[in-house]
Amino acid sequence: MNLHEKIRNIPDYPIEGVQFKDITTLLKDGEALRYTIDKITEFCKSKQADIIIGPESRGFILGTPVAYNTGAGFVPVRKPGKLPAETERVEYSLEYGSDALEIHKDAIQPGQRVVICDDLLATGGTVQSAAKLVENLGGEVVGIAFLIELTFLEGRSKIDQYDIYSILKY
Ligand code: IMP
Repeated sequence: MNLHEKIRNIPDYPIEGVQFKDITTLLKDGEALRYTIDKITEFCKSKQADIIIGPESRGFILGTPVAYNTGAGFVPVRKPGKLPAETERVEYSLEYGSDALEIHKDAIQPGQRVVICDDLLATGGTVQSAAKLVENLGGEVVGIAFLIELTFLEGRSKIDQYDIYSILKY
């Protein structure tokens, strides 16, 4: 299946100079959605994941059906202040300023095998932080899966100690 043609490119969004990859055009195509979830499911099954992590918010969309397919549990990683129980937090720097991600402290048991699943790898800051959260709780990151990898941003170099899978590369 040619998934590239299902992704819509939006120039200058959210700021000038950025070529935003809009995945909503893929999500609304039943065949393309099934294909995408099946491919990531295959990867997660091969990793024998106990838990699938999805970073807010497109990681929720892809991560939950993959968890369902593999029999793993799903754990959300969210922006600060969104999770109701006690959280672990990691701060990371952006081009301008910083941001943070949180996970529930009791979401992962030590030794559990975790795959992180997100729509897109850009600079790698998001999944690198998600991986830190998992490891701070004693989980083992056994893989990271993306629908799209923007190879020219070299996000892979931040997370090259992990097994990385991506369906589409730009
Ligand atoms: P990173 O932390 O720089 O790798 O950015 C990845 C995060 O930003 C992911 O959670 C994506 O959802 C989001 N993101 C960055 N660029 C795009 C894009 O072009 N399309 C969709 N999401 C993007």
